[in-house]
Amino acid sequence: MAQPRILILGAPGAGKGTQSAKIADHFDVEHVTTGDALRSNKEMDISDLGLEYDTPGEYMDAGELVPDEVVNAIVDEALSQSDGFVLDGYPRNLEQAEELEGMTDLDVVLYLDVSEDELVHRLTGRRMDPETGDIYHLEYNPPEDAEVEDRLVQREDDAEDTVKERLRVYRENTEPVIEYYEEEGSLERVDGEQAPDEVWEDVKVTIEDAA
Ligand code: AMP
Repeated sequence: MAQPRILILGAPGAGKGTQSAKIADHFDVEHVTTGDALRSNKEMDISDLGLEYDTPGEYMDAGELVPDEVVNAIVDEALSQSDGFVLDGYPRNLEQAEELEGMTDLDVVLYLDVSEDELVHRLTGRRMDPETGDIYHLEYNPPEDAEVEDRLVQREDDAEDTVKERLRVYRENTEPVIEYYEEEGSLERVDGEQAPDEVWEDVKVTIEDAA
């Protein structure tokens, strides 16, 4: 498989970002991530859609999904410009899954399986270095440098109440997407509670086997 088209699914905090970065590097494909794309466009004016909020950032800070019209357009544009890719953060509901089917064929659909207790723990302890963008965890992966530790910030949507809302939205909207690919017979389940390197081994082998 020269340039694989990979979809990575999993709850917020399951490790999609970490594993996608490794996939992009190892298999030389583009990392297409709706979360990052939306974070760079938080202030975009979407008031002409006449929906609940006027910017993507307002949906994100509330832990809600950004409207499909906005997200579908971002993904369509990104995928049309890449051969191989790892798509992360999309589709998050059945409508988006159907939309994606019209955009491209997938070679592998990975699902990082992590229990809800572990997800809450991972998300509420996650911190970011605003200067480098590096991600740490207060308990699992604290920075060695005290200076870095002092400047760490929490992503606004990693605050406990918002995490609970994101997981509720995930259960309601995105779990049906997992079932959709499972019924289709294409879902490859990976145990996401292992150490990151072990998860990566399983992810790599699963993609290679799909070639
Ligand atoms: P993430 O970094 O993937 O956890 O995404 C952060 C936030 O961006 C989510 O809580 C949503 O508000 C928004 N978002 C990301 N991807 C999507 C999507 N496919 N559909 C709707 N909203 C999204």
